[in-house]
Amino acid sequence: MRNIRLFWRLFSSYLWITVVALVFVAWSGSSVLRDFYLDQVARELENGAYLCRPEVASLLASDDLEAMDRLCKSLGKATQTRITVILPSGKVVGDTEEDPRRMDNHRDRPEVAEALAGGVGRVTRTSDTVREELLYVAVGLERHDAIPAVVRLAVPLTEVNRTLRSVRVHFLVVGALAAGFVAIVSLWVSRRISRPLEHLETGARRLAGGELDHRLDTSDIAEIAALADAMNQMAEQWADRVRTILRQQNEQAAMLSSMVEGVLAVDNAGTVITLNESCAALVGAEAAKVKGRKVHEVIRKPDLLRFVESALSSPSPVEGDLEIAGATSRWLHAYGTTLDDAEGRQLGALIVFHDVTQLRRLEMVRRDFVANVSHELRTPITSIKGFVETLLDGALDDKASATRFLEIIHRQANRLDAIIEDLLMLSRLEKAADEPAEPFSPDAVAEMLRAAVEMCQNRAAENRISIEVACEETLTVPMNAQLLEQAIVNLLDNAIKYSSPGATVRVEAAREADEVVIRVRDHGCGIESRYLPRLFERFYRVDRARSRELGGTGLGLAIVKHIILVHGGSVDVESTVGQGSTFTIHLPAAKLTNS
Ligand code: ADP
Repeated sequence: MRNIRLFWRLFSSYLWITVVALVFVAWSGSSVLRDFYLDQVARELENGAYLCRPEVASLLASDDLEAMDRLCKSLGKATQTRITVILPSGKVVGDTEEDPRRMDNHRDRPEVAEALAGGVGRVTRTSDTVREELLYVAVGLERHDAIPAVVRLAVPLTEVNRTLRSVRVHFLVVGALAAGFVAIVSLWVSRRISRPLEHLETGARRLAGGELDHRLDTSDIAEIAALADAMNQMAEQWADRVRTILRQQNEQAAMLSSMVEGVLAVDNAGTVITLNESCAALVGAEAAKVKGRKVHEVIRKPDLLRFVESALSSPSPVEGDLEIAGATSRWLHAYGTTLDDAEGRQLGALIVFHDVTQLRRLEMVRRDFVANVSHELRTPITSIKGFVETLLDGALDDKASATRFLEIIHRQANRLDAIIEDLLMLSRLEKAADEPAEPFSPDAVAEMLRAAVEMCQNRAAENRISIEVACEETLTVPMNAQLLEQAIVNLLDNAIKYSSPGATVRVEAAREADEVVIRVRDHGCGIESRYLPRLFERFYRVDRARSRELGGTGLGLAIVKHIILVHGGSVDVESTVGQGSTFTIHLPAAKLTNS
């Protein structure tokens, strides 16, 4: 259906109603006027006829028909009325316009018949004689028994019609003016009604377009004002609901994005509904760009996709461990469950991923550690057991061998002791690192270094190694002097062990920017760069046999690392094969209270 603007509908309706009403009023008015006018004329004619009656009666009584005709002609001319006298036989005996002898019998004329019947005959008709429309009024002469003649008066209606025409023209002009006036008024009224509605429409469109803060103008038309008010309230409620939904969405998004666990929601068709940042990082996708895409376009890991499919198809929750291969492999523990609506219909599936790589690594470290400890302990124990059995089997009788075997047993027992001592030390350090401790008080670095060098002096002398110390006396750093001394001893011990006799080992300490840096340099055998990353691991040794031969436990550098960690610092190594190694300890400025 074609839509017409309210303004045009109102305007055209008003106009139509006005025009129809005006036409109707003009038409009915002019016909009422005509009737009234004819009635007036007829009454005048009737009165005229009554006035003529005595003269006509006397002429009729004297039977002077010539005089009768003359009377009709003279009276008629004087009053501009056609006067006709008709006998009851229908014979015309006098007429203003015609010679009565040439006139038809008028007995059958309805007005004459009516007058003869005793009434007043009144008819409008086109005259056969004068060929124009006339109004006839006929009355009979008064007598007791029969009516002796009928006096008929007639006037042409030309004048009446002309008058009525001019009245109609007048009506038309006034009507047109009234219509014009009504058109202007209805234009104004239509505008007044339609304009607020148009504003309402524009406002409603803006609301529908999402401008929920827009408010509709009120109007002085009560219904439109009420409508605008209701729509404003509706918009307020919508805005409120949208704000609530947005807030909930933001909260949900914030929750999802701050979750450590990866969360992936897919619908039944495998389209991604939600994927949080953690999940995006795990699967190597961009969280903002994946919504609405198929899960297989987003995740290119077959194991993961299989898990998503099984979560979608299984009615009960599914669980599993997945390995995400890549530059650095990651292990995920996945938990998948169906996403159901309030009626219990499945909408899709929700999968939560926990990154258990660290746990796995720790588990591996723990396993390696247990294996390493067992291995490290078993070697001296096997050796001790073997020699004790040999002694018991009779070697005890051979004094020289017995002494040698007991010396070996003693050495292996010392080795066991050293390993256990180092393990206990590591365990204490780990505990210390886990527990928040009181900040260390500043201590003199030079003194601590001297104490460490002293501890190593004997061994250095045995290997003809000289140790140099370079440190300002005033340099201090917050430290546990005993622990830091142990770390320096371990480094010096290694430097001595892996240097050739006659070499020099140098220990330097200095303030560099916001750190106190302690370096232990040797010019020994050095370490190949490929071994450097694992050097600080427990029981890691470049040359296992040589380390053992030199009495190492493989825990020395691990202990150094943990001591420095307890101090909030870091340790690293630079080394060149054949030229020597430098171990550098950084103690952070943040930990410095004064220096
Ligand atoms: P170890 O008790 O065997 O010395 P560490 O943890 O102290 O154990 O050292 C681990 C390994 O690092 C050693 O086995 C050795 O191969 C290497 N290493 C440590 N310090 C040095 C050094 N100064 N020069 C060359 N190699 C070193």
